[in-house]
Amino acid sequence: MQDSRETVLKIAAAQKLLLGALALSVLINLTFSSCRPSLADFGVDSLAIELGILVIALAIVVFQIVCIVRLGLLLNETATTVVCAIGQFVPCVNLALILWLNSRASARLQKSGIRVDMLANAKDLENYHPHEFQVFCPSCSTPSSSDFDFCPKCGTRLVNQAEQPERDA
Ligand SMILES: [Zn+2]
Repeated sequence: MQDSRETVLKIAAAQKLLLGALALSVLINLTFSSCRPSLADFGVDSLAIELGILVIALAIVVFQIVCIVRLGLLLNETATTVVCAIGQFVPCVNLALILWLNSRASARLQKSGIRVDMLANAKDLENYHPHEFQVFCPSCSTPSSSDFDFCPKCGTRLVNQAEQPERDA
């Protein structure tokens, strides 16, 4: 079954945000490891440094969990979401879990025929209209919503595909 356009757009956005959170976390961890010695050289109290790092690290973990829960719930995968969220408190495992959830999201989008690259850039989203465009105008071939009775372009009466009588061969 294909997802609605709204769901697909939400999944794609949540997936991008999650990878953004992952990139932010890696960047900040690298900054910490390079700054920690030099901050100590400047005479900053080591307890203050450790506390500061702890607070920022916790803030990132919370942000990642928010991103995980958003994406996991969109995917309707409660168990996966819980495992990934709790796993955020375990170093290294947390990154692997984010990548795992990310691949679940990519797989879900691919089911709807949407290609996703390594950076979670979903392709073909512009042209993804699974439900909105089901009826084609018999005279000008303009696609339109199945809710419409008449073609929005030329005004020809639209016939629902299912109701359309078979044409003579
Ligand atoms: Zn038309």
